[in-house]
Amino acid sequence: MLKIDKNDEPKFFAEFKKKSNPKSWKDFDFKIKGKLKEYMLENEQKIDENYFCPYCERQISVEKSQIEHIKPKDKFPKLFHNYSNFLTGCLENQTCGSTKGNKWDDNFVNPVEYNPRDYFEYSISTGEIIPKYENGIEYEMAMKTIEILNLNQKKLCESRKSFIYQNSSRKEGKIVINIENLKYITKFPTLKEFLLKNLKSETKK
Ligand SMILES: [Zn+2]
Repeated sequence: MLKIDKNDEPKFFAEFKKKSNPKSWKDFDFKIKGKLKEYMLENEQKIDENYFCPYCERQISVEKSQIEHIKPKDKFPKLFHNYSNFLTGCLENQTCGSTKGNKWDDNFVNPVEYNPRDYFEYSISTGEIIPKYENGIEYEMAMKTIEILNLNQKKLCESRKSFIYQNSSRKEGKIVINIENLKYITKFPTLKEFLLKNLKSETKK
């Protein structure tokens, strides 16, 4: 899961709201939604020229993405037009926004408010995202968030696993990361970061 540093509400969006006085999310048309997605992807969700879904870290595009209300609009109706509650998420139908729907839990790791790095890490053998801590509130929050977004969907774990395999080799039963390879690949950014941090020293042996 990626941290999102939200900018202030963009001017074009403030102007649209002033002009159209939207009463609900339905009042935002295709055009303004496209513009919003483009703005968020370009300014808040871009790493090395690629755009990412902050929840699953799959690569997305302006066309293949959707605006996600982090705090669902059914439960937080006043936030339907609140820019700081938006992110641009993937369209995968078994994870992220589509799975989350209008589910909400106060333990949800909101990537705008919290740094997901403090809550999650990965299992190198299974490709699963796992809680960083074994107990306590951080553990509870990580588990709840993984459940709500279905972040250990089989297909997603397989993709993480093949990313790990493609960038590593096995030496004496240990997984050794190919740093030179990995440096130039922008995929699963926090998994990449985790691999570089945790498997780096082994390459020196
Ligand atoms: Zn996603």
